[in-house]
Amino acid sequence: SHGFALKAALAAHLDVQPAQLTLGNGSNEVLELIARAYLRPGDEAVVPEYAFAIFAIVAHAAGARVVSVPARDYGADLEALRAAVTERTRLVFLANPNNPTGTMVAAGPLREFVAGLPHHTLMVLDEAYCEYVRRPDYPDGVRWLQDFERLIVTRTFSKVYGLAGLRVGYAVSHAGLAEFLNRVRESFNVNSLGLVGAQAALADREHLERTVALNDAGLAELTAQVRALGLDFIPSVGNFLTVDVGGPAAVVYWAMLRQGVIARPLACAG
Ligand SMILES: *Cc1c(COP(=O)(O)O)cnc(C)c1O
Repeated sequence: SHGFALKAALAAHLDVQPAQLTLGNGSNEVLELIARAYLRPGDEAVVPEYAFAIFAIVAHAAGARVVSVPARDYGADLEALRAAVTERTRLVFLANPNNPTGTMVAAGPLREFVAGLPHHTLMVLDEAYCEYVRRPDYPDGVRWLQDFERLIVTRTFSKVYGLAGLRVGYAVSHAGLAEFLNRVRESFNVNSLGLVGAQAALADREHLERTVALNDAGLAELTAQVRALGLDFIPSVGNFLTVDVGGPAAVVYWAMLRQGVIARPLACAG
């Protein structure tokens, strides 16, 4: 129920203590545990516009008020996010890179943002796509944990490791925060196949490198083709691309689906 072997492997991989880890049924569950542990009715959760939809869903489910902060160039506007933090703000959510926009926040401004949060506010940094990012100014949130006690970094085996169906994600934080998250966690939330699968995936460097290289080539090709069609798009650092199809997205979505390609119409999915 504690995922002993996977936690040991992750702790070695991330250079943290096993007690800093919280395993979840995907990082979706970890986000839910965070909301359940830290939000009560009357609290506020600050979420960037166009952010990963689950942030607002788990905060609402915990009875909190969700404060959505307008984006700048489709990315998180850190200044506006800071201005939205009040004495009732318990959580700030940020996905870096963000799904569905593929945008990222650079290390310098993000570090300043986290350092400037008041003591009653926790920062939830969702790094579901971190392995794909090639930019030198991309921050590794786990390395910041020694400086920030009120930071929670979430990651997953669902994306670059390709194990979405096995449902394994995790949070890395100070051990004190991890203890609270583990208290609200259902004892057997990650099944044994997921645990051994994640452990094996972590050891498979070659698969990771191949996947990242494949994504680099695929993203470059997709971006070039979309540009050649004269369509606007949001430059992405992840493994997906948001494109303005120049008309109702649902039409393109259904036409692609009929050809066996699953896209996501953002006008509908939000
Ligand atoms: C996919 C995704 C997750 C979580 O996926 P799990 O399968 O639950 O681990 C979390 N955050 C973002 C931004 C995602 O895109």
